[in-house]
Amino acid sequence: MKPLQIAIDGPVAAGKGDISARLAREIGLVYIYTGAMYRALALACITRSVPRKEADRVLAVLGDTDIDLVEPDKDSAFPYKVLLGGTDVTDRISDPDVSMGASDVSTIPEVRQEMVKRQQEIARGKRVVMEGRDIGLRVLPDARLKIYLTASLEERVKRRQLQWQAKGITKPFDEVYEETKDRDAQDMGRSTDPLQKLPDAWLLDSTGMTQEQVVNAVKTELHKRQLL
Ligand code: C5P
Repeated sequence: MKPLQIAIDGPVAAGKGDISARLAREIGLVYIYTGAMYRALALACITRSVPRKEADRVLAVLGDTDIDLVEPDKDSAFPYKVLLGGTDVTDRISDPDVSMGASDVSTIPEVRQEMVKRQQEIARGKRVVMEGRDIGLRVLPDARLKIYLTASLEERVKRRQLQWQAKGITKPFDEVYEETKDRDAQDMGRSTDPLQKLPDAWLLDSTGMTQEQVVNAVKTELHKRQLL
């Protein structure tokens, strides 16, 4: 029997990370945050002053930098840990300047191809919940449950604002609104594997729901499909 693998895709600040991490804890899955890999590549480009849409140069960076997703430390505030060339960049990649950079590098088809290959290797044979933008489509096309997790733009902007606040970053609503809209537009409009709700994905609109309610809704769906 194939291991339980769950794919969660959705737009910016839909709650994919929190929901995935919580679900993983509650039902015993490995949580894999694929966005962290695109973010780490973006950070490597920023550090080396490589323009993030220059395919050849970004690919060269990808080719000679180690990006590792590893088990988080016990006392970490993050449910994942990312190493870039052996250095812990977990906190740094969650900074605002890296977000759009990650979206930029992710438009390059060859970058996506390589990331998908690495992500499939990480997930092979494991019980996982994996989240990103192309998980149901490309990384885990045979996932037992594919979820398209979303929420209204206003609610997602408020959630993102709170996340920045927790990092000590104060940003006005309008600024976060524009950033969120722009990144979604690029992620949904790119020519290679744009974010989309797949026909075989279960739509979960979390507007007005608490994290606990969302996780419970997912568990109910898993029960219904006799996957739990
Ligand atoms: O999930 P997160 O917002 O951290 O991802 C950062 C960026 O990485 C996204 O805006 C998207 O452009 C890209 N990404 C992707 N495919 C994935 C995960 C992330 O294109 N599977």
